[in-house]
Amino acid sequence: MKLDATDLRYVTSDEFRVLTAVEMGSKNHEIVPTVLIVRISGLRNGGVNKILGSLAKRSLVSRVQNARCAYSFVAGDESIDVVEDDGYRLTYGGYDYLAMRAMSKRDSVYSVGNQIGVGKESDIYIVADNQGQELVLKLHRLGRISFRAIKQKRDYMGKRKSASWMYMSRLAAEKEYAFMKVLYEHQFPVPRPVDQARHCILMEFIDAYPLRQVSDLPSPGALYSELMDLIVRFARAGLIHGDFNEFNILIRRETGEPIVIDFPQMVSTSHTNAEWYFNRDVECIRRFFKRRFRYESSIYPRFRSIKNETSGDGSGAFHLDLVVAASGYDKGEQKVLEEYMDTIQLEKSRKEPDGADDDEEDTEDTSDADEDADEDEEFSEEDDVGEEDENGGNELAEADDL
Ligand code: ADP
Ligand code: MG
Repeated sequence: MKLDATDLRYVTSDEFRVLTAVEMGSKNHEIVPTVLIVRISGLRNGGVNKILGSLAKRSLVSRVQNARCAYSFVAGDESIDVVEDDGYRLTYGGYDYLAMRAMSKRDSVYSVGNQIGVGKESDIYIVADNQGQELVLKLHRLGRISFRAIKQKRDYMGKRKSASWMYMSRLAAEKEYAFMKVLYEHQFPVPRPVDQARHCILMEFIDAYPLRQVSDLPSPGALYSELMDLIVRFARAGLIHGDFNEFNILIRRETGEPIVIDFPQMVSTSHTNAEWYFNRDVECIRRFFKRRFRYESSIYPRFRSIKNETSGDGSGAFHLDLVVAASGYDKGEQKVLEEYMDTIQLEKSRKEPDGADDDEEDTEDTSDADEDADEDEEFSEEDDVGEEDENGGNELAEADDL
Protein backbone atom coordinates (compact mmCIF):
# COMPACT_ATOMS: atom_id res chain seq x y z
CA MET A 1 0.00 0.00 0.00
CA LYS A 2 1.20 3.47 -0.75
CA LEU A 3 1.83 5.97 1.94
CA ASP A 4 1.17 9.46 0.86
CA ALA A 5 2.97 12.08 2.85
CA THR A 6 1.66 15.00 0.83
CA ASP A 7 -1.83 14.07 1.89
CA LEU A 8 -0.78 14.57 5.49
CA ARG A 9 -0.79 18.30 5.03
CA TYR A 10 -4.14 18.47 3.31
CA VAL A 11 -6.56 17.09 5.81
CA THR A 12 -8.73 19.74 7.41
CA SER A 13 -9.21 19.80 11.14
CA ASP A 14 -12.85 18.67 10.77
CA GLU A 15 -11.77 15.76 8.61
CA PHE A 16 -9.24 14.86 11.23
CA ARG A 17 -11.95 15.00 13.88
CA VAL A 18 -14.16 12.66 11.94
CA LEU A 19 -11.33 10.26 11.22
CA THR A 20 -10.43 10.19 14.88
CA ALA A 21 -14.07 9.55 15.72
CA VAL A 22 -14.04 6.51 13.42
CA GLU A 23 -10.90 5.30 15.13
CA MET A 24 -12.44 5.72 18.57
CA GLY A 25 -15.62 4.00 17.50
CA SER A 26 -13.56 1.10 16.15
CA LYS A 27 -12.47 0.18 19.63
CA ASN A 28 -15.85 -1.33 20.24
CA HIS A 29 -17.34 -1.69 16.79
CA GLU A 30 -16.06 -3.53 13.85
CA ILE A 31 -18.21 -1.30 11.70
CA VAL A 32 -18.82 2.06 13.25
CA PRO A 33 -22.38 3.30 12.73
CA THR A 34 -22.57 6.74 11.16
CA VAL A 35 -24.70 8.03 14.03
CA LEU A 36 -21.98 7.13 16.45
CA ILE A 37 -19.36 8.89 14.35
CA VAL A 38 -21.52 11.99 14.42
CA ARG A 39 -21.87 11.80 18.19
CA ILE A 40 -18.19 11.26 18.86
CA SER A 41 -17.03 13.94 16.47
CA GLY A 42 -19.41 16.52 17.92
CA LEU A 43 -19.98 17.97 14.44
CA ARG A 44 -23.19 18.51 12.53
CA ASN A 45 -24.79 15.54 10.91
CA GLY A 46 -24.76 16.79 7.32
CA GLY A 47 -21.19 17.94 7.63
CA VAL A 48 -20.05 14.58 8.93
CA ASN A 49 -21.67 12.70 6.05
CA LYS A 50 -19.92 14.85 3.54
CA ILE A 51 -16.59 14.47 5.27
CA LEU A 52 -17.01 10.72 5.51
CA GLY A 53 -17.60 10.67 1.77
CA SER A 54 -14.42 12.57 1.14
CA LEU A 55 -12.39 10.41 3.54
CA ALA A 56 -13.76 7.30 1.84
CA LYS A 57 -12.71 8.66 -1.55
CA ARG A 58 -9.16 8.87 -0.25
CA SER A 59 -9.46 5.37 1.24
CA LEU A 60 -8.89 6.55 4.78
CA VAL A 61 -12.17 4.96 5.81
CA SER A 62 -14.32 2.51 3.97
CA ARG A 63 -18.06 2.49 3.81
CA VAL A 64 -19.89 -0.69 4.68
CA GLN A 65 -23.47 -1.01 3.55
CA ASN A 66 -26.13 -3.38 4.76
CA ALA A 67 -23.96 -4.44 7.59
CA ARG A 68 -26.50 -4.29 10.38
CA CYS A 69 -24.38 -2.64 12.97
CA ALA A 70 -25.94 -2.60 16.36
CA TYR A 71 -24.83 -0.48 19.22
CA SER A 72 -26.17 1.10 22.31
CA PHE A 73 -25.42 4.30 24.09
CA VAL A 74 -26.40 5.84 27.35
CA ALA A 75 -28.44 9.02 27.38
CA GLY A 76 -29.23 10.20 30.87
CA ASP A 77 -30.41 7.12 32.76
CA GLU A 78 -31.47 5.36 29.66
CA SER A 79 -29.56 2.90 27.52
CA ILE A 80 -30.66 3.21 23.92
CA ASP A 81 -30.15 0.45 21.38
CA VAL A 82 -29.70 1.39 17.77
CA VAL A 83 -29.49 -0.79 14.72
CA GLU A 84 -28.18 0.79 11.60
CA ASP A 85 -27.52 -0.57 8.17
CA ASP A 86 -24.59 1.57 7.23
CA GLY A 87 -21.33 2.32 8.84
CA TYR A 88 -17.67 2.88 8.27
CA ARG A 89 -14.45 1.36 9.26
CA LEU A 90 -10.97 2.68 9.48
CA THR A 91 -8.68 1.30 6.78
CA TYR A 92 -5.00 0.56 7.13
CA GLY A 93 -4.55 3.79 5.20
CA GLY A 94 -6.57 5.74 7.75
CA TYR A 95 -4.67 4.24 10.63
CA ASP A 96 -1.37 4.94 8.86
CA TYR A 97 -2.48 8.49 8.34
CA LEU A 98 -3.24 9.00 12.01
CA ALA A 99 0.10 7.58 13.08
CA MET A 100 2.03 9.57 10.50
CA ARG A 101 0.23 12.72 11.46
CA ALA A 102 1.20 12.20 15.09
CA MET A 103 4.82 11.72 14.11
CA SER A 104 4.85 14.66 11.79
CA LYS A 105 3.32 16.90 14.48
CA ARG A 106 6.21 15.89 16.71
CA ASP A 107 8.60 16.72 13.86
CA SER A 108 10.01 13.24 13.78
CA VAL A 109 8.87 12.55 10.22
CA TYR A 110 8.83 15.12 7.48
CA SER A 111 8.72 13.18 4.23
CA VAL A 112 8.16 9.65 3.07
CA GLY A 113 10.42 7.92 0.58
CA ASN A 114 10.55 4.44 -0.88
CA GLN A 115 9.18 1.29 0.52
CA ILE A 116 12.09 -1.02 1.21
CA GLY A 117 10.36 -4.03 2.61
CA VAL A 118 7.11 -5.90 2.74
CA GLY A 119 7.12 -8.52 5.41
CA LYS A 120 4.32 -10.78 6.37
CA GLU A 121 3.53 -8.56 9.26
CA SER A 122 5.02 -5.20 8.43
CA ASP A 123 5.72 -2.62 5.75
CA ILE A 124 9.02 -0.78 5.86
CA TYR A 125 9.64 2.68 4.41
CA ILE A 126 12.54 5.05 4.23
CA VAL A 127 11.45 8.42 5.54
CA ALA A 128 13.24 11.63 6.44
CA ASP A 129 13.02 14.10 9.27
CA ASN A 130 13.05 17.83 8.67
CA GLN A 131 16.84 17.89 8.66
CA GLY A 132 16.81 15.45 5.74
CA GLN A 133 18.11 12.66 7.95
CA GLU A 134 17.03 9.25 6.64
CA LEU A 135 15.11 7.03 9.01
CA VAL A 136 13.25 3.76 8.80
CA LEU A 137 9.52 3.63 9.42
CA LYS A 138 8.10 0.24 10.25
CA LEU A 139 4.32 -0.12 10.07
CA HIS A 140 3.10 -3.19 11.85
CA ARG A 141 0.43 -5.16 10.01
CA LEU A 142 -0.57 -7.90 12.35
CA GLY A 143 -3.60 -9.75 11.32
CA ARG A 144 -2.69 -9.53 7.66
CA ILE A 145 -2.05 -13.22 7.79
CA SER A 146 -3.51 -15.11 10.52
CA PHE A 147 -6.42 -14.19 12.56
CA ARG A 148 -7.40 -17.66 11.52
CA ALA A 149 -4.92 -18.92 14.07
CA ILE A 150 -6.39 -16.72 16.67
CA LYS A 151 -9.83 -18.14 16.14
CA GLN A 152 -8.65 -21.19 17.93
CA LYS A 153 -8.49 -19.29 21.14
CA ARG A 154 -11.56 -17.34 21.79
CA ASP A 155 -10.49 -15.53 24.89
CA TYR A 156 -7.77 -13.53 23.17
CA MET A 157 -9.65 -10.41 22.63
CA GLY A 158 -11.32 -10.28 25.98
CA LYS A 159 -14.16 -7.83 25.66
CA ARG A 160 -12.66 -6.37 22.56
CA LYS A 161 -14.42 -8.03 19.74
CA SER A 162 -13.33 -5.76 16.99
CA ALA A 163 -10.49 -3.85 15.50
CA SER A 164 -8.12 -6.60 16.36
CA TRP A 165 -5.74 -5.87 13.50
CA MET A 166 -5.34 -2.33 14.77
CA TYR A 167 -5.06 -3.40 18.34
CA MET A 168 -2.52 -6.15 17.73
CA SER A 169 -0.47 -3.97 15.42
CA ARG A 170 -0.31 -1.23 18.01
CA LEU A 171 0.70 -3.69 20.73
CA ALA A 172 3.43 -5.05 18.49
CA ALA A 173 4.78 -1.56 17.80
CA GLU A 174 4.71 -0.64 21.49
CA LYS A 175 6.51 -3.79 22.41
CA GLU A 176 9.11 -3.51 19.68
CA TYR A 177 9.81 0.09 20.59
CA ALA A 178 10.09 -0.61 24.31
CA PHE A 179 12.58 -3.40 23.70
CA MET A 180 14.59 -1.52 21.15
CA LYS A 181 14.90 1.38 23.52
CA VAL A 182 16.12 -0.65 26.45
CA LEU A 183 18.47 -2.69 24.27
CA TYR A 184 19.89 0.42 22.67
CA GLU A 185 20.41 2.04 26.05
CA HIS A 186 22.34 -1.03 27.12
CA GLN A 187 24.65 -0.93 24.13
CA PHE A 188 23.21 -3.85 22.24
CA PRO A 189 23.79 -3.62 18.48
CA VAL A 190 20.28 -2.53 17.49
CA PRO A 191 19.03 0.51 15.55
CA ARG A 192 18.51 3.67 17.55
CA PRO A 193 14.79 4.00 18.24
CA VAL A 194 13.40 7.43 17.39
CA ASP A 195 9.64 7.50 17.85
CA GLN A 196 6.53 5.38 18.08
CA ALA A 197 2.90 6.16 17.35
CA ARG A 198 0.02 3.69 17.15
CA HIS A 199 1.24 0.78 15.00
CA CYS A 200 4.38 2.51 13.73
CA ILE A 201 7.92 2.77 14.91
CA LEU A 202 10.61 5.03 13.65
CA MET A 203 14.27 4.11 13.92
CA GLU A 204 17.74 4.76 12.67
CA PHE A 205 18.43 3.66 9.11
CA ILE A 206 21.19 1.08 9.07
CA ASP A 207 23.27 1.05 5.91
CA ALA A 208 23.47 -2.69 5.72
CA TYR A 209 22.24 -5.81 4.01
CA PRO A 210 20.55 -8.75 5.64
CA LEU A 211 22.79 -11.70 6.44
CA ARG A 212 20.52 -13.61 4.11
CA GLN A 213 22.18 -11.86 1.17
CA VAL A 214 25.70 -12.73 2.17
CA SER A 215 26.94 -15.58 0.03
CA ASP A 216 30.55 -15.71 1.01
CA LEU A 217 32.54 -14.91 4.11
CA PRO A 218 36.31 -15.03 4.52
CA SER A 219 35.99 -16.43 8.04
CA PRO A 220 32.48 -17.58 8.85
CA GLY A 221 33.64 -18.79 12.27
CA ALA A 222 34.22 -15.24 13.44
CA LEU A 223 30.69 -14.09 12.61
CA TYR A 224 29.26 -17.33 13.94
CA SER A 225 30.91 -16.74 17.30
CA GLU A 226 29.87 -13.13 17.32
CA LEU A 227 26.23 -14.12 16.77
CA MET A 228 26.30 -16.86 19.38
CA ASP A 229 27.88 -14.40 21.82
CA LEU A 230 25.00 -12.07 21.09
CA ILE A 231 22.44 -14.74 21.86
CA VAL A 232 24.25 -15.35 25.13
CA ARG A 233 24.44 -11.66 25.90
CA PHE A 234 20.71 -11.36 25.35
CA ALA A 235 20.07 -14.32 27.63
CA ARG A 236 22.33 -13.01 30.36
CA ALA A 237 20.23 -9.89 30.23
CA GLY A 238 17.12 -12.00 30.69
CA LEU A 239 16.03 -11.92 27.04
CA ILE A 240 15.57 -14.17 24.04
CA HIS A 241 15.15 -12.61 20.64
CA GLY A 242 12.80 -15.30 19.42
CA ASP A 243 13.34 -14.76 15.69
CA PHE A 244 17.10 -14.61 15.47
CA ASN A 245 17.65 -15.52 11.86
CA GLU A 246 19.40 -14.39 8.69
CA PHE A 247 16.60 -11.95 7.84
CA ASN A 248 16.73 -10.15 11.16
CA ILE A 249 20.48 -9.77 11.31
CA LEU A 250 21.77 -6.89 9.24
CA ILE A 251 25.43 -6.67 8.30
CA ARG A 252 26.70 -3.12 8.29
CA ARG A 253 28.11 -2.26 4.89
CA GLU A 254 31.10 -0.37 6.26
CA THR A 255 32.21 -2.50 9.14
CA GLY A 256 30.61 -5.92 8.71
CA GLU A 257 29.18 -5.57 12.20
CA PRO A 258 25.93 -7.46 12.81
CA ILE A 259 22.93 -5.37 13.87
CA VAL A 260 19.86 -7.11 15.22
CA ILE A 261 16.34 -5.97 14.32
CA ASP A 262 12.72 -7.10 14.67
CA PHE A 263 11.65 -7.46 18.29
CA PRO A 264 7.90 -7.99 18.62
CA GLN A 265 8.32 -11.62 19.58
CA MET A 266 11.03 -11.22 22.22
CA VAL A 267 10.50 -13.23 25.35
CA SER A 268 11.94 -13.26 28.82
CA THR A 269 14.27 -16.05 29.89
CA SER A 270 11.71 -16.77 32.57
CA HIS A 271 9.02 -17.47 29.96
CA THR A 272 7.66 -20.99 30.33
CA ASN A 273 8.96 -21.95 26.90
CA ALA A 274 12.18 -19.98 27.16
CA GLU A 275 14.44 -22.91 26.47
CA TRP A 276 12.52 -23.83 23.34
CA TYR A 277 12.78 -20.28 21.99
CA PHE A 278 16.44 -20.09 22.93
CA ASN A 279 17.31 -23.35 21.21
CA ARG A 280 15.44 -22.33 18.15
CA ASP A 281 17.45 -19.10 17.87
CA VAL A 282 20.68 -21.04 18.25
CA GLU A 283 19.54 -23.66 15.72
CA CYS A 284 18.59 -21.04 13.15
CA ILE A 285 22.13 -19.72 13.13
CA ARG A 286 23.74 -23.14 13.12
CA ARG A 287 21.58 -24.31 10.27
CA PHE A 288 22.15 -21.19 8.23
CA PHE A 289 25.92 -21.34 8.65
CA LYS A 290 25.98 -24.98 7.75
CA ARG A 291 23.95 -24.52 4.59
CA ARG A 292 25.30 -21.26 3.41
CA PHE A 293 28.96 -21.36 4.42
CA ARG A 294 29.45 -25.09 5.07
CA TYR A 295 30.49 -24.07 8.53
CA GLU A 296 29.76 -26.29 11.47
CA SER A 297 30.89 -26.01 15.04
CA SER A 298 30.34 -28.21 18.01
CA ILE A 299 30.44 -25.11 20.14
CA TYR A 300 27.14 -23.46 20.76
CA PRO A 301 25.45 -22.02 23.82
CA ARG A 302 23.21 -24.05 26.11
CA PHE A 303 20.29 -22.42 27.82
CA ARG A 304 20.71 -24.25 31.12
CA SER A 305 24.26 -23.19 31.69
CA ILE A 306 23.35 -19.55 31.16
CA LYS A 307 20.33 -19.93 33.41
CA ASN A 308 22.46 -21.50 36.12
CA GLU A 309 25.08 -18.87 35.86
CA THR A 310 22.53 -16.06 36.15
CA SER A 311 20.35 -17.59 38.84
CA GLY A 312 21.55 -18.30 42.39
CA ASP A 313 22.09 -15.00 44.11
CA GLY A 314 21.23 -13.29 40.87
CA SER A 315 24.41 -11.27 40.89
CA GLY A 316 25.38 -12.39 37.42
CA ALA A 317 22.10 -11.35 35.94
CA PHE A 318 20.80 -8.06 34.90
CA HIS A 319 17.21 -8.25 34.00
CA LEU A 320 16.31 -6.22 30.97
CA ASP A 321 13.07 -8.16 30.80
CA LEU A 322 12.13 -6.47 34.06
CA VAL A 323 13.49 -3.13 32.93
CA VAL A 324 11.24 -3.27 29.88
CA ALA A 325 8.28 -4.37 31.97
CA ALA A 326 8.86 -1.40 34.24
CA SER A 327 9.22 1.04 31.38
CA GLY A 328 5.57 1.86 31.21
CA TYR A 329 4.47 -0.49 28.54
CA ASP A 330 1.24 -2.14 29.44
CA LYS A 331 1.89 -5.57 30.82
CA GLY A 332 -1.75 -6.62 30.84
CA GLU A 333 -2.32 -5.60 27.24
CA GLN A 334 0.94 -7.16 26.19
CA LYS A 335 -0.22 -10.50 27.43
CA VAL A 336 -2.78 -10.49 24.64
CA LEU A 337 0.02 -9.96 22.15
CA GLU A 338 2.17 -12.63 23.70
CA GLU A 339 -0.61 -15.14 23.41
CA TYR A 340 -1.10 -14.15 19.81
CA MET A 341 2.63 -14.51 19.14
CA ASP A 342 2.70 -17.93 20.79
CA THR A 343 -0.13 -19.06 18.56
CA ILE A 344 1.65 -17.76 15.48
CA GLN A 345 4.84 -19.52 16.54
CA LEU A 346 2.93 -22.69 17.04
CA GLU A 347 1.29 -22.37 13.62
CA LYS A 348 4.71 -21.82 12.08
CA SER A 349 6.29 -24.79 13.76
CA ARG A 350 3.39 -26.93 12.65
CA LYS A 351 3.83 -25.82 9.07
CA GLU A 352 7.59 -26.17 9.06
CA PRO A 353 8.73 -28.92 11.35
CA ASP A 354 12.33 -28.33 12.39
CA GLY A 355 14.81 -28.62 9.60
CA ALA A 356 12.23 -29.31 6.96
CA ASP A 357 11.49 -25.72 6.13
CA ASP A 358 14.05 -24.14 3.88
CA ASP A 359 15.77 -26.96 2.09
CA GLU A 360 16.47 -24.63 -0.75
CA GLU A 361 18.05 -21.31 -0.11
CA ASP A 362 16.75 -19.46 -3.06
CA THR A 363 13.30 -18.79 -1.85
CA GLU A 364 12.79 -15.11 -2.08
CA ASP A 365 13.14 -13.03 0.98
CA THR A 366 9.57 -11.88 1.10
CA SER A 367 8.23 -14.55 -1.20
CA ASP A 368 5.57 -15.95 0.99
CA ALA A 369 3.96 -12.62 1.58
CA ASP A 370 1.19 -13.56 -0.78
CA GLU A 371 0.85 -17.13 0.29
CA ASP A 372 -2.12 -16.17 2.35
CA ALA A 373 -3.46 -13.70 -0.10
CA ASP A 374 -6.87 -15.23 0.12
CA GLU A 375 -7.09 -14.04 3.68
CA ASP A 376 -5.71 -10.73 2.78
CA GLU A 377 -8.98 -8.95 2.55
CA GLU A 378 -8.49 -5.64 4.06
CA PHE A 379 -9.48 -6.76 7.49
CA SER A 380 -9.64 -10.35 8.31
CA GLU A 381 -10.43 -10.12 11.94
CA GLU A 382 -14.17 -10.56 11.54
CA ASP A 383 -14.73 -13.61 13.55
CA ASP A 384 -11.77 -14.01 15.75
CA VAL A 385 -14.22 -14.94 18.39
CA GLY A 386 -16.08 -17.19 15.99
CA GLU A 387 -17.51 -20.58 16.70
CA GLU A 388 -15.06 -22.88 15.06
CA ASP A 389 -12.69 -23.78 17.76
CA GLU A 390 -10.35 -26.57 16.95
CA ASN A 391 -8.35 -26.08 20.08
CA GLY A 392 -5.63 -28.30 18.76
CA GLY A 393 -3.70 -28.62 22.01
CA ASN A 394 -1.16 -25.89 22.44
CA GLU A 395 2.32 -27.21 23.12
CA LEU A 396 3.37 -23.75 24.08
CA ALA A 397 2.21 -23.03 27.55
CA GLU A 398 0.48 -19.80 28.37
CA ALA A 399 2.85 -16.93 28.59
CA ASP A 400 2.88 -15.16 31.85
CA ASP A 401 5.98 -13.12 32.06
CA LEU A 402 7.19 -9.70 31.16
P1 ADP B 1 9.38 -7.92 9.69
O1 ADP B 1 8.79 -7.92 11.05
O2 ADP B 1 8.35 -7.72 8.64
O3 ADP B 1 10.28 -9.09 9.45
P2 ADP B 1 11.80 -6.33 10.01
O4 ADP B 1 11.89 -5.40 11.17
O5 ADP B 1 12.54 -7.60 10.13
O6 ADP B 1 10.27 -6.58 9.64
O7 ADP B 1 12.30 -5.55 8.72
C1 ADP B 1 12.17 -6.09 7.42
C2 ADP B 1 13.33 -5.68 6.52
O8 ADP B 1 13.42 -4.25 6.43
C3 ADP B 1 14.68 -6.11 7.06
O9 ADP B 1 15.03 -7.41 6.64
C4 ADP B 1 15.62 -5.07 6.51
O10 ADP B 1 16.00 -5.40 5.20
C5 ADP B 1 14.77 -3.82 6.46
N1 ADP B 1 15.00 -3.01 7.67
C6 ADP B 1 14.28 -3.03 8.80
N2 ADP B 1 14.74 -2.15 9.71
C7 ADP B 1 15.80 -1.55 9.13
C8 ADP B 1 16.71 -0.52 9.55
N3 ADP B 1 16.62 0.05 10.75
N4 ADP B 1 17.67 -0.12 8.68
C9 ADP B 1 17.77 -0.69 7.46
N5 ADP B 1 16.95 -1.65 7.00
C10 ADP B 1 15.97 -2.09 7.82
MG1 MG C 1 12.07 -9.60 10.17
